[in-house]
Amino acid sequence: MKKLIYSIICLFLLSGCMAKKSAAGEGLDYKDSHLSKVDPDLVDWKTKDLEYWKSVLSPIQFNVTREAGTERAFTGKYWDNKKEGVYICSNCGQHLFLSSTKFKSGTGWPSFYDTISKGAVSKIVDSKFGMSRTEIICSRCGAHLGHVFDDGPRPTGLRYCMNSVSLIHVPNKKK
Ligand SMILES: [Zn+2]
Repeated sequence: MKKLIYSIICLFLLSGCMAKKSAAGEGLDYKDSHLSKVDPDLVDWKTKDLEYWKSVLSPIQFNVTREAGTERAFTGKYWDNKKEGVYICSNCGQHLFLSSTKFKSGTGWPSFYDTISKGAVSKIVDSKFGMSRTEIICSRCGAHLGHVFDDGPRPTGLRYCMNSVSLIHVPNKKK
């Protein structure tokens, strides 16, 4: 009887741990994402439809990157991340930002003053909500990443205000 109770408690604890892991994971680590199962540079990401994205992304990733949503400030994984490395697109793996251009903006979203290269992102004028803003999307797969504003620090004066779920941080040594 004691053994039975013990195993029930163990099972209960184990399932609790697993539930926590999948909730916090959100497919945000490279190794847990769909990108780790393919060579991201060989896939024609532009041909992927919404059904595909729904099947490989977490609900919040899908909402932000494919429906131009915004994660709540101070809730994302990377707004306060100070680790070195490269930030890639969470949808297609394209390299987007270097940690060396990340700065503390106080907004609650990961903010960068420059992209990793000129062609990494595309800009679209976004006039939703009666405001004229510049939306930033991944140039390779069209994922919505965030917006860019002109109140950033030197040397560019730009503030790329990104959603954590649009990005995956890859530490320097791994990739
Ligand atoms: Zn992308």
